[in-house]
Amino acid sequence: MLSVDEALKLVLDHARPLSWPQSLTIGDGEALGCVLTERVTSDIDSPPHDKSIVDGYALIAADAEEPGRELTVIEEVTAGAVPTRTVERGTATRIMTGAPLPAGADAVVKVEQTTLAGDRVRIHQSPVKPGQNIMRQGASLKRGQVVLEPGKVLRPIEIGLLAEVGRDSVEAIRRPLVAVIPTGNELVPSSQTPGRGQIRNSNGPMLRALAESAGARAHEYAIVRDDPDQLRMFVLMGLGSRIILLSGGVSAGVLDLVPGVLRDLGVQEVFHKVNLKPGKPLWFGVKDEAQTQTRTLVFGLPGNPVSGLVCFELFVRPAIEKLSGREPKGLPRVTATLTQEHKQRGDRPTYWPALLAEIGDQKSVTPLPWQGSGDLRTLTDANCLAYFPAGDRVFAAGERFETLILQ
Ligand code: AMP
Ligand code: MG
Repeated sequence: MLSVDEALKLVLDHARPLSWPQSLTIGDGEALGCVLTERVTSDIDSPPHDKSIVDGYALIAADAEEPGRELTVIEEVTAGAVPTRTVERGTATRIMTGAPLPAGADAVVKVEQTTLAGDRVRIHQSPVKPGQNIMRQGASLKRGQVVLEPGKVLRPIEIGLLAEVGRDSVEAIRRPLVAVIPTGNELVPSSQTPGRGQIRNSNGPMLRALAESAGARAHEYAIVRDDPDQLRMFVLMGLGSRIILLSGGVSAGVLDLVPGVLRDLGVQEVFHKVNLKPGKPLWFGVKDEAQTQTRTLVFGLPGNPVSGLVCFELFVRPAIEKLSGREPKGLPRVTATLTQEHKQRGDRPTYWPALLAEIGDQKSVTPLPWQGSGDLRTLTDANCLAYFPAGDRVFAAGERFETLILQ
């Protein structure tokens, strides 16, 4: 059976970002979180003019050589307005934050350091440094300057900067579309009370949320019954997406029809089963569409919720990252010291829900009393998955293990 590392390598070898440019809009959030593929230059100076960075009076610094000088106020300029008068010796212009500095002035004194009486303003600050409280034209960025390079992830900060330099769309890698297909005769939607033999579909909403948390756009399809024709129809619909996440139906049960249906549809199997716990039944394959030159990665995730979660974090999250043009890092990993004895049975390496804590600069990990792959509830107390190597054995308190930090 494949190891986790071997399986991950196969997944990533088959995942590649689209190579043609895509124009994404800024205003509706489409570009947020995406990786830029063009070099962006500014079409303006910022600020576009010398501007005041405070509310106060624009004056000639040399006029405030001694404290208490009085100047004649000749004009008031608010942000958005343009000064019409030149400041000369003995005069000042009332100016608001962001407004253009009037000709002649070389400093701004804060309103708090002045008193106004009629059209005369008394300046209490002295001396006044030339240039004080002024941001010069182009101090932040200059017209023609490169402001963003390809490869940059567009955070809200970059979205703001793109707007500042006049862009309402950019070339970037579109977030991949993920189709989530929950399968199983026993499933009912979360809005229903399960009847005898039934359970609610928790994987659909969870996988959709996981895909979105990893930076994809995700769509959850209706629950699909364990019926080859229905399965075929839904998988065909999902093949328009970059990734299909099927949940359930990949184990050895009589109604585990997913691998067979996928093969019938020409989804090429890359592997089935990985040496890990939980999550062993994982199925992975690809379907290439010659006409559109696109490829769909198809994951048959085991139905048990925690198995699905672990497979997602180990294999799907890095795949989404790679398709998005980001480095396929997966969850962050840290090594921590086991706080208590932990018994492990079975012959597969295990990802166990646990609590990671930090005491000073020491990291400790405490496995939670987890009931196995159907027990999602315990995961709500967990902040990591602790990795225990294969083998029937008891791990002693004080031993160190790698943990995957859950998002
Ligand atoms: P399967 O992989 O189809 O054999 O399912 C394994 C276990 O996971 C069974 O106990 C299923 O009832 C359960 N299961 C399958 N699909 C879901 C789902 N969408 N939500 C919650 N549990 C599920
Ligand atoms: Mg099933």
